[in-house]
Amino acid sequence: MKYILALDEGTTSCRSVIYDENADPVSSAQKEFTQIYPKAAWVEHDPQEIWAAQLFTIKEALRQAFLSPGDICAIGITNQRETAVIWNRRTGKPLCNAIVWQCRRTAEYCGELSEDEGFKDYVQKTTGLLIDPYFSATKIKWVLDNVPGAREGAEAGEVVFGTIDSWLIYKLTGGKSHITDHTNASRTMLFDITKLKWDEKLLDKFEIPEKMLPETVESSGICAYTDREVFGEAVPIAGIAGDQQSSLFGQGCFEAGQAKNTYGTGCFLLMNTGTAPVFSKNSLVTTIAYRIRGKTYYALEGSVFVGGAVIQWLRDEMGLIENSAESEQCALKVEDTAGVHIVPAFTGLGAPHWASEARGIITGITRGANKNHIVRAALEAIAYQVYDLAECLQKDSGLRLPAINVDGGAAENNFLMQFQADIMGFPVNRPINTETTSLGAAFLAGLGAGIFPDMDFLGKLRRTGRVFEPKTERKKARELLEGWEKAVQRCLWRSE
Ligand code: ADP
Repeated sequence: MKYILALDEGTTSCRSVIYDENADPVSSAQKEFTQIYPKAAWVEHDPQEIWAAQLFTIKEALRQAFLSPGDICAIGITNQRETAVIWNRRTGKPLCNAIVWQCRRTAEYCGELSEDEGFKDYVQKTTGLLIDPYFSATKIKWVLDNVPGAREGAEAGEVVFGTIDSWLIYKLTGGKSHITDHTNASRTMLFDITKLKWDEKLLDKFEIPEKMLPETVESSGICAYTDREVFGEAVPIAGIAGDQQSSLFGQGCFEAGQAKNTYGTGCFLLMNTGTAPVFSKNSLVTTIAYRIRGKTYYALEGSVFVGGAVIQWLRDEMGLIENSAESEQCALKVEDTAGVHIVPAFTGLGAPHWASEARGIITGITRGANKNHIVRAALEAIAYQVYDLAECLQKDSGLRLPAINVDGGAAENNFLMQFQADIMGFPVNRPINTETTSLGAAFLAGLGAGIFPDMDFLGKLRRTGRVFEPKTERKKARELLEGWEKAVQRCLWRSE
């Protein structure tokens, strides 16, 4: 039996999952690490703690499976994207904490940059992104401008930048490799996603020396070997992808028009748009889905800010339910929401409305409305927001979605999945293994190391658990969507 180790480094925890050659999970281990909030809206992680946590889970996963490092044929890495680590390549010491994707410390600077329409267009055309603190570029600039010795070190070629994949690979290889893959590079706001190289004009603008950036490699293929001292054996690292791209891959979305949605705290909808990038007119982001064997595939990406979080809110702030899973039983106790709509615009609304000033509302309450109606309306709101995003993706790409593959915590909710299919008018397909992020990394590594022959083979390894077929007539679905749209319009008044 051949084994693949998938390292899934998330925003709150590190995981290691061992898969066998049939892509069945054999063992897994997880360890949380500290979230550091130095100021309001600033978020940091300690890179050394992340490395220690990742190494701990590797050892634990091996132990649980009764395997040793030599039994692993390939390693795949997937990671929280955009988070910037800056370290000294000679000593291996980070110069400061990692600046996490959520951190808003460069918001003011990004606001100034966005006033220049020409620059905004250049950023979108070159990197596929919108100017936002989310992406790595302004985080790197912040470190170079604020951490003593950072700029001098970077100019001397000693101080380097990497996203978390880069950092882990540097550590796994005993400091020998400084690389990242194209999907992670495409989230830095410095990478030309068509020419596949760091963009000089953007490097100049952000005053970032090119020599501090990692070499970029394909998402699948042997790119480095682990150091024996560190890992116990020299094992090939053969797959790398950012978390959302990895989940798209693990969901087997290899063809243009195929999409996946992850229902987590927020939702991430990604559609494979094929080998040419599609630039959005609806403020969606264009990103590299993967590059394999010389071919680049692109994706359009959109996110819902408040997805499963609305259920957490019902549980923690409203006290309407004891746990998230209970929301399903509540929703099924009533036939509909009795006209109640919740628009969970807690932090504003994203695509297609882009109203940062909008705030949440509950509309249509009558004397007969009860807890179950409210809970149902909250679940429906998740599905409506995903519907709105899917419409944007379809408009921008000119592609019609045949179905959607789903994962994430709230995808376990059968009511939500059925309702999603009903309003979309096409099937919602949930795999048996909803850990698609680590599965994607295992697919990429297995393909890269020759354990899996090709993508057709991988397509068969993704096993469907349950398909939710639409049951509601289109006329009824349209009425429901109209009700949602009216509620959204009511919520937008604040931002007018
Ligand atoms: P993340 O990776 O963003 O932390 P997860 O994929 O673990 O998120 O999903 C957790 C989210 O999903 C939480 O917001 C939780 O409220 C929601 N959730 C989990 N299970 C259910 C369920 N059965 N029904 C509805 N929401 C759920």
